[in-house]
Amino acid sequence: MSNKITLENACLFCANNVGQIDYKNTESMYPFISGYKKILPRKKNKLCARHQRKLALAIKQARIMALLPFTNR
Ligand SMILES: [Zn+2]
Repeated sequence: MSNKITLENACLFCANNVGQIDYKNTESMYPFISGYKKILPRKKNKLCARHQRKLALAIKQARIMALLPFTNR
């Protein structure tokens, strides 16, 4: 496995120069959660470690604020 940073595996948030992920902006999180509303792993999200951590935190905050569901049922 190479550590080469290519355009294809570049982090979406890094590409858009997003520093902080707002937990109130739930639409931006939907591509990163599964059908069962679980947070997808970094390999599937194609995010860098920093943004995956921030995204996970934002999703957890959104869940507590009842903006996102914990599970489907
Ligand atoms: Zn990033």
